[in-house]
Amino acid sequence: MGPQHWWPAGSAFEVVAGAYLTQNTAWGNVELAMANLRRADALSVDGIRKVSLEELEQLVRPAGYFRQKAARLKLFVAHLDGHYGGSLEQMFARPAEELRVELLTLTGIGPETADSILLYAANLEVFVVDSYARRIFERHGMVDDGTGYEEIRAAVQRALAESVEEGQGLDRRQGQLPHLRAPEILVPEASVHAPSAASRMGRSELAQRYNEFHALIVQTAKHFCVKGEPRCESCPLREMSEGKAAATSRGTKDKNNRKEPHLTNREV
Ligand code: SF4
Repeated sequence: MGPQHWWPAGSAFEVVAGAYLTQNTAWGNVELAMANLRRADALSVDGIRKVSLEELEQLVRPAGYFRQKAARLKLFVAHLDGHYGGSLEQMFARPAEELRVELLTLTGIGPETADSILLYAANLEVFVVDSYARRIFERHGMVDDGTGYEEIRAAVQRALAESVEEGQGLDRRQGQLPHLRAPEILVPEASVHAPSAASRMGRSELAQRYNEFHALIVQTAKHFCVKGEPRCESCPLREMSEGKAAATSRGTKDKNNRKEPHLTNREV
């Protein structure tokens, strides 16, 4: 499917704002709210600091839960001001796991939002487990619906870290995942982001691998591993499904036979 160029944002703070705004809403609504913020010159740490809470609520209204989301953006900036002199750079210089614990103490930041900020804004080595990843892993029998967020995150991180240590398939000249063949035309061109300031930010090979892996999971889930009946016949992962998708989509999982996540670097 070619390079995915995540996250579509003009700055690290735009990623943070997007991570908050995308909670419980479609990305199209987030784009409307982001456009409002940009027009009002409020899509920055300084902009959020200066705008009144009431005005901010109206600007982010298209993303839904606008009072909550406006208050949470204000809270994030207040935290940044209180602990890092308003500097995202200083905040993101902290070790990933420490910063993760800190972010999780902020109202409105759960594991997925924290990890999106860590991976896509701070470029730290943290994988994001979202509903798309869970759906694909469940259908491939790698996890079940009782597997916790942390278990999945740890399993993916372990497997991808091993693959990087072994140098599997990395193009070290570009620090990007290679797309060894020309991309097949598998998804609509419009669904692949153009390179952005955020996608071009410097990051380690491992962070780049988490970034690209998550982006490819999103594409695969949106276009093939959809809710309801998965479209395995046309899916790029069809050779890995081994009939498991059909079984899980019919709801035939044995819930007493709970699995530990067992992703290997070969599978990812
Ligand atoms: S092969 Fe089927 S189950 Fe696997 S990711 Fe693709 S659509 Fe989903």
